[in-house]
Amino acid sequence: MLPVNELFETVQGEAAFTGMPSTFVRLQGCDVGCPWCDTKYTWELNHTPPDPLAVILGKIEPSPSFAAVSIDELVQTLSQSQSRHLVLTGGEPCMYDLTELSGRMIADGWTVQVETSGTEPIRIDPRAWVTVSPKIRMPGGKIFRSDAWQRANEIKMPVGKPADVQMLLELIALYGPAMVWLQPLSMSEKATALCIEAARRNRWRISVQTHKFLGVR
Ligand code: SF4
Repeated sequence: MLPVNELFETVQGEAAFTGMPSTFVRLQGCDVGCPWCDTKYTWELNHTPPDPLAVILGKIEPSPSFAAVSIDELVQTLSQSQSRHLVLTGGEPCMYDLTELSGRMIADGWTVQVETSGTEPIRIDPRAWVTVSPKIRMPGGKIFRSDAWQRANEIKMPVGKPADVQMLLELIALYGPAMVWLQPLSMSEKATALCIEAARRNRWRISVQTHKFLGVR
């Protein structure tokens, strides 16, 4: 069973899959504790009793409610989507073993992507695309895993201050080169200018939250 907080169709707005019509499954649960997290409602797993999936599918406003959904039910529900790109997000989706779900969806002709902080083992089909947003020295005290960096197809780094760029350089020095996207925190002017400068200097790329310009979730 997976705790599903939201399931909705949209357009992937960030990094390599930008512009791809996608179905997002947001899983409940995260103990990383990023202060600027914009999905704090996904942190707690103490919402009882879980809702039926039908209630979750009709959700309009973000909330901590979730449904406990079997892989069979999730695959069946996803088969009704128009898109064929699945994004597993959270919360921290890698708290859960995503191998069966991702494998079945890929076998059905989908592409599958997971967005993770890199603080949990990544249990997913080897053909899945892994986006790692390294979360380091956050209040939850979780440790960033080197195997997450090695498995990543892309690194999406939230940047709000020069120390974030410095941390990224340290990670590259430690673990090796990667496809890097810089994401200006809150798309503030200062963070954006910092990202542009760092991207120029290091041949990185910038990822903005395109879905916000499109006016979709
Ligand atoms: S890892 Fe993601 S969901 Fe968890 S606190 Fe950080 S930003 Fe929020």
